[in-house]
Amino acid sequence: KAHGNWAFVKGVPSMEFLPPLGPPEIAFAGRSNVGKSSLINALTGKNGLARTSNTPGRTQELNFFVPEGFSGAMDNLPPLAVVDMPGYGYAKAPIEMVERWTELVFEYMRGRVTLKRIFLLIDARHGVKQNDLDAMKLMDKAAMSYQVVLTKTDKVKEPAIPRMIAETLEKIKKSPAAFPEVIATSSEKSRGMDDLREAIAKAINP
Ligand code: GDP
Repeated sequence: KAHGNWAFVKGVPSMEFLPPLGPPEIAFAGRSNVGKSSLINALTGKNGLARTSNTPGRTQELNFFVPEGFSGAMDNLPPLAVVDMPGYGYAKAPIEMVERWTELVFEYMRGRVTLKRIFLLIDARHGVKQNDLDAMKLMDKAAMSYQVVLTKTDKVKEPAIPRMIAETLEKIKKSPAAFPEVIATSSEKSRGMDDLREAIAKAINP
């Protein structure tokens, strides 16, 4: 099923390159390899929109995507821009890279009035890791609403999914910026996409 035409607008390496304020934005964040590109591709119905398989260091940018023409009437989504945030948690990331990531993401979250929610992706096999907790803390500090999305649920046994959701909810319950619902997805099996679209629609038009 197609979801309109999406186009890459620009990569933003620092705040002065942000596009002017436009439609509401939602952003995707997560550890490298969590399945972020695959999920954005599955969501927009456009393969290859977000690069699958990122090279560390080359992707320290906020990547903006918009539906072409802003026509708005995409299947179930109101007009919006999707922002692919740089991945974090590379095994050998030098400290300066982590600091640059933190600064870019924090400045963007704090200053962007059109940014409505961040979807924080967690691999359903691995659960919440220390660098995910660090990212959550940053979102709390920026008072930036975020919602956890489990990825790759096709890789775990069916009963492990509600367990992982419960475990994740337990970990975010003290986080004031966390939305208290976790979405389970698989890009591979196109699972949970309607739940994700619904959450996006609600984040944009609460
Ligand atoms: P990113 O680094 O977060 O953008 O992650 P990618 O989207 O590039 O995915 C990383 C790896 O996980 C790739 O080999 C994907 O094929 C795989 N992957 C992504 N989503 C899924 C999924 O839903 N199910 C399975 N089984 N593999 C996935």
